[in-house]
Amino acid sequence: MGIAAGKAAFVLSTERNDVRCPTTGEMAPKNARSLLNGHSDDPEHGDDRLGKQAARLNEVLAGASAGERLARFRDEVDGKIVFTTSFGPEGQVILHLIAEQQLDIDIVTLDTGRLFRETYDLWAETERRYGRRIRAVYPRQDNLEVLVEKQGINGFYDSREARLACCQVRKVEPLGRALAGAVAWIVGLRANQSSQRANTKLITVDEREVLKFSPLFDWTREAVHAFATANGVPISPLHAKFFPSIGCAPCTRPVIPGEAERAGRWWWEADDKKECGLHLAAHRQGLAGA
Ligand code: SF4
Repeated sequence: MGIAAGKAAFVLSTERNDVRCPTTGEMAPKNARSLLNGHSDDPEHGDDRLGKQAARLNEVLAGASAGERLARFRDEVDGKIVFTTSFGPEGQVILHLIAEQQLDIDIVTLDTGRLFRETYDLWAETERRYGRRIRAVYPRQDNLEVLVEKQGINGFYDSREARLACCQVRKVEPLGRALAGAVAWIVGLRANQSSQRANTKLITVDEREVLKFSPLFDWTREAVHAFATANGVPISPLHAKFFPSIGCAPCTRPVIPGEAERAGRWWWEADDKKECGLHLAAHRQGLAGA
């Protein structure tokens, strides 16, 4: 049977949990199956042990600075922690704080193959600045070949379903591999980035059954840029050209004054509730459509 908007990259079969991408035919990751089966990512509804850990860490870390939050989180959480960055200003600030404190946290980026030239340049500059390699995770070649064969190289403009299928192949599936073996996932979400992200919390339990940690959840955009300027953190030159939020090049345009911070992402879609599928809580709550 078909599924609702926001979950359109998959089709449910009659067998419970058999959720497949209509483009590639591959099984959806466990997190997506949980989502479609109505599971929650709230601490109180997720894995009990992780939920309790998240609740405790929320209390412990709430009043700390972002740098202290990261260091304390590393101390408190046993196991592999992965930070994923797309080289936005939030990601750059978090990367700076991790590198400066030499925290044992994996730094990973999802290279969709469709990023801006400026993003690749910033990636290289960031590695030079901090003296560490940023691990790249790529789409699976077989999935990509099937996707492009089916929808064409820019097929994501044709329909919402096609766009979701592209994000699934280029972002969501690689994220699952980026988080393999991890107990926690650090992201650059802020609550005031968009209405879809307004409920962002410091720490939740993600559908992928990892702690999801947003150390800048209560920062403003201005605070992020002020920190970057004060600390010499490299950021994309595109921000000065009215790109407050930067994703894949063909799916990002500059905003005009007064537009929302993420208005330039997938701008051709009428629905303003837009995400790519990496942040599942927004989907579950019906607050995001991608
Ligand atoms: S943002 Fe655009 S190019 Fe990038 S993965 Fe999604 S649909 Fe594809």
